[in-house]
Formats: sequence, structure tokens, C-alpha cells
Amino acid sequence: MSINKTIVRGQCSSCGWRSQRQYKNMSKPCPKCGGTMVVDESDQESMKAMAIIAIVAMVVLAVVFSALGVGK
Ligand SMILES: [Zn+2]
Repeated sequence: MSINKTIVRGQCSSCGWRSQRQYKNMSKPCPKCGGTMVVDESDQESMKAMAIIAIVAMVVLAVVFSALGVGK
């Protein structure tokens, strides 16, 4: 899974316009006023949780691979 394809809620910091879009598109400006779009706070929390899950999964995979003796 890629965090860039995650649908997040965003809000324009200038005019308050809200939208849902893929995370990678959050860097694009507001379509109404050209202002900066910011990720909704509640979604920032879930994004952090997803990032932590991804890191944990990578660590688990590394441990499993080393336990299997890959690379010996
Ligand atoms: Zn705006």
C-alpha cells in the first residue's frame, strides 16, 4: 500500500474550502483560490498510524528474513 494513494480530507488554509483527495494531490493548491491545502487533523492521526504500521511490518519482515537465514 502506498501512502500517496490514501484518500485524505483536506481544507484550504485561505478560504476554508474542503475536499477529499489522494494524499499525493494535497500539495496542489486550492482550486477555488489557489491557497495552500492542509490535511485535516483527524486524518493526520490516521496517517501517522499507517506510517507506524508500515514501519512495524518492515521490521517484522526483516526479522523473519534474518531468522530464515537469507543471505547466508
Ligand atoms: Zn481556497
